Amino acid sequence: MGKKMSGRFVAGMSVEEALAACQRVNKEGIAVSLDSLGESVTTEAEARTSADIYHQLLDAIHTRGLNANVSVKLSQVGMDFDPALAERIVGEMVEHAAHVQSFVRIDMEGSPYTEATIAMTERLAAKFPGAVGTVLQAYLFRTEGDAERLLNEGIRIRLCKGAYKEGPEIAFPAKSDVDSNYVKLMRRMVTFSNPTTGKGVFCGIATHDEAIVEQMRAFVREHNIDKSAFEFQMLYGIRRDLQHRLTAEGFGVRVYLPFGPEWYPYFMRRLAERPANVIFLAKNFFKN
Ligand code: FAD
Repeated sequence: MGKKMSGRFVAGMSVEEALAACQRVNKEGIAVSLDSLGESVTTEAEARTSADIYHQLLDAIHTRGLNANVSVKLSQVGMDFDPALAERIVGEMVEHAAHVQSFVRIDMEGSPYTEATIAMTERLAAKFPGAVGTVLQAYLFRTEGDAERLLNEGIRIRLCKGAYKEGPEIAFPAKSDVDSNYVKLMRRMVTFSNPTTGKGVFCGIATHDEAIVEQMRAFVREHNIDKSAFEFQMLYGIRRDLQHRLTAEGFGVRVYLPFGPEWYPYFMRRLAERPANVIFLAKNFFKN
């Protein structure tokens, strides 16, 4: 039952199913970030198994000409027990991505990982510029500083609100403050220009919040910002209407497409974000 219910947000169990879903999404003019679900592995063998799947994905992206990149979590490749191993494994993925002109996005997990994730992204980006980026969360107080840090280094940022439980000493407790910070940061990201090179940094505006999407559209219009400076990003299966509308308007849209047998924690976070999903999924389940 759980598997069936998660099907709305998880694009299948196998690499082949994920690639087929990717192809379908690409046909709609939407790019993809493939995420092989998994977190908190405890052995090197598990970390290597996760990595193998990512190498298969990068090969398939290349050989099948998919409009896709990959997203990975550090806890999935050994960060909890051997950070050096995690860095070697992600480094190999980034090197592979650089060879096939793709890209690795290091997802952001809870706050114990924030600094380590940013620092690792910086080291890898120094070796493989343009092939790796990370995610910043608008609910954290520190994010404004982190955004400046990454922008000045030319590292691509995906901006999201943040999906983990964080305390009021480090994160905005009120949703309205998170939203305002999000808007402030997204504006900064799309107007940033490096003082030496004059170059901007391509970034991902990851949200389903229509009010924020509207503000971005208005901001881009008013400031004459090229649509190629950024892309909207949404989760697979969520607000497909909005994804299609933005694509039709000529905005870049990328869908984060999770797959794999380890769907449970991902699925539970999506339910926690929007309890109405439980009703939605339950209705769907009983219909099928
Ligand atoms: P909200 O204010 O939560 O929601 C706005 C509206 O969007 C809601 O009213 C509803 O209509 C719709 N909506 C939002 N969520 C759902 C849902 N689950 N189901 C149905 N409708 C929904 N978080 C991290 O901490 N680290 C990451 O690396 C990360 N990567 C992400 C990548 C992408 C592409 C996206 C889109 C999100 C990512 N997130 C990540 C999750 C993010 O932090 C938020 O938890 C999530 O996107 C919900 O916030 P929102 O911006 O959509 O706005």
